[in-house]
Amino acid sequence: MKVLLAEDEPRIAADIATALKASGMAVDIVRDGEAAWFAGDVENYDAAILDLGLPKLDGLTVLKRWRANARRFPVLILTARGMWTERVDGINSGADDYLPKPFEMEELLARLRAILRRSAGQSAPVLKSGPLLLDTRQMRISLRGVPISLSPLEYRLLAFLMHHAGRVVAPTELAEHLYDSGNDRDPNTIEVIVARLRRKLGSDIIETRRGFGYLMPDDPA
Ligand code: CA
Repeated sequence: MKVLLAEDEPRIAADIATALKASGMAVDIVRDGEAAWFAGDVENYDAAILDLGLPKLDGLTVLKRWRANARRFPVLILTARGMWTERVDGINSGADDYLPKPFEMEELLARLRAILRRSAGQSAPVLKSGPLLLDTRQMRISLRGVPISLSPLEYRLLAFLMHHAGRVVAPTELAEHLYDSGNDRDPNTIEVIVARLRRKLGSDIIETRRGFGYLMPDDPA
């Protein structure tokens, strides 16, 4: 999962970025509204955290432009305390949720995970595919009840496939959602990570559709 973080207060931005990375997400930070609008328009994010009080272009305008341009990733807006009109305007402009400042990091993470799940059509915090369970709150994986330890990249790749279970995901798409935009995004490394996951989880957990990508079976609830 890759998240765009638009926040002009360096301290808050750094704290959020640290928490997101610790939760197994890649994050791009932008510090003004123009940069936010541009990044959200050209990159494929799984979600955005958008402060409404941004320099150059306010967050609400950024959000309206994204939505007008059919950018549909879920957006969590950060609002100043007591500004309930901002929250209403944000929701009306296409925000998926909001959080007033100051906030607890745990609450931000919980709300972000919830909008990520909803946008992927999942409602429960624990994802299931065959014998595999992934608890997005604790970043825990278990296979037939046995806990499995994964590296951060292995976790990110598996979590993305499980959020999109039932759909074939191309290596280029996986690479886009696994790495920060500053990083080299070589789709060939995806094959290596999938191979490592298969060694840990069994060869039949992730299917290969040759020429198209990877697939995890959808688990009918
Ligand atoms: Ca601000």
